[in-house]
Amino acid sequence: MGIRTDEKIVNYIRKKMQKSHKVVAVLGIEMLVEGGGCDLDSNDENYRVEEEYGFCPEDILSTSFFNAKVEKFYRFYKKEILGMKLHATPAHDALVRLQNQGKLSAVICQNYHGIPENVPLNNVIDLNGNININQCPHCDKDFDIQYIVNSKGIPQCDHCKVAIRPGIRLIGERVDTKLMTQVAIACDTADVMLILGKNMYHDRLEYSAAPEQEQLKVLFSKNEFERNGKVDFIIRDDICEFLPLIID
Ligand SMILES: [Zn+2]
Repeated sequence: MGIRTDEKIVNYIRKKMQKSHKVVAVLGIEMLVEGGGCDLDSNDENYRVEEEYGFCPEDILSTSFFNAKVEKFYRFYKKEILGMKLHATPAHDALVRLQNQGKLSAVICQNYHGIPENVPLNNVIDLNGNININQCPHCDKDFDIQYIVNSKGIPQCDHCKVAIRPGIRLIGERVDTKLMTQVAIACDTADVMLILGKNMYHDRLEYSAAPEQEQLKVLFSKNEFERNGKVDFIIRDDICEFLPLIID
């Protein structure tokens, strides 16, 4: 299967990438799907989850649901979120190459799963939290992911016997201001922004440069209805196929 994007556009982006000094990559749901994950926001998944749990994923992954129905929350979370088996893709390899060239200034990860363990990317900002960080809301004790997976029912702090809080940002919670500041600094000075898929469920965050900064913004989206006047190009191809074409 070839690339759908016009060759002239591919060449244009590649040239911009060659001249760039500060690239910011924003990892979204399409990176997760290409790495073996599941888009819980798709129509099929919404339907399936609602049949199985009585609520759609967007409801379950909210603060109010966690507070009111923690047992059901964890039934969903352990199976549907922690159950995803993810692997590195050629898109991750391309980003590592970019990092080795000294051009990758930040990786903003919007997915709960973060970067696969064997991918040596630095300066990763887990904007929506990370499944590997779990904490007791009372005593702040940390628990690893295996503790959550191995727990029966609701994972509880072994001291306080209260439900452990997963390290992901639930819908309804604000983004950590420290993280937002890091993101703003990275985006302000980026000469290329690669937006690799949308931000599942969460507010449509805008990633913009400072007004004086000239910036090429490329959005990857399979959604044919996606129209976005704030980006220079929307790419419909697989990220794994496209990134290796524009990153030497
Ligand atoms: Zn505790």
